Amino acid sequence: MSIYLQGAAKKDAALPVGDAERKARVQLAACYRIFDHLGWTEMIFNHITLRVPGTGRDAPPQFLINPFGLHYREVTASNLVLIDIEGNPLRESEWPVNRAGFVTHSAIHGAIETAHCVMHTHTTTGMAVACLKDGLSPTNFYAAQLHGGVAYHDFEGITVEPAEKERMVRDIGAKRAVILRNHGLLTWGPSVPEAFMMLWTLQRACDIQVASTSAGTLQPIESKVFEQTVRESGPGEKRVCEDVFAAMQRIVDAKDPSYRN
Ligand SMILES: [Zn+2]
Repeated sequence: MSIYLQGAAKKDAALPVGDAERKARVQLAACYRIFDHLGWTEMIFNHITLRVPGTGRDAPPQFLINPFGLHYREVTASNLVLIDIEGNPLRESEWPVNRAGFVTHSAIHGAIETAHCVMHTHTTTGMAVACLKDGLSPTNFYAAQLHGGVAYHDFEGITVEPAEKERMVRDIGAKRAVILRNHGLLTWGPSVPEAFMMLWTLQRACDIQVASTSAGTLQPIESKVFEQTVRESGPGEKRVCEDVFAAMQRIVDAKDPSYRN
């Protein structure tokens, strides 16, 4: 089966680009460039998807995804592909959509009410922790903030089948992020900045875990400290997420503002 999904019905070249979609396109394109800046890229693979604000209420939800074939560094506001929940393009696009990749995202978008933005990475340390039997170790500053909030879903192959979508959603339950075992990291949020901050925290936890375990014996954190750490942690605060994202966006603007096109 091809991983490409292109040429499906329902394309409408005349579908207008509204203000909400235009803003969503610029913010999502900025996010792709931020990932590139941070080195969270896997050639042309992986995805960050965003529901277009305002869609999904009176009419079916619409999503934006990276064109399959381009590096994150090449993603721009205008080349993001508008798709429905099945991954069918809703407007003419020169680029296809990666079927295998979007199925995972659509499961999260469809099942978690606050999952307006979904992010997935194959970073080396993220994948390394995903390959560990015990997963994330609650022994560092960032892992402590996520304590009790990370779900695990077993690896079942590259292509996510409908039945696996249900198992993945069940495994996630009410958690805030998921480690796809033997595979990678996945987070979501009500906005791009909030999903980004969650993924950044998880990514940093993995970085520190891999570095610290290779350096020596880990110092445990007392269990009574976790509750307070989770309560005090900043990642969940919307304002902090927005400020962090805005700062990162200024960096990519200074590097190359072409993503805004
Ligand atoms: Zn993946």
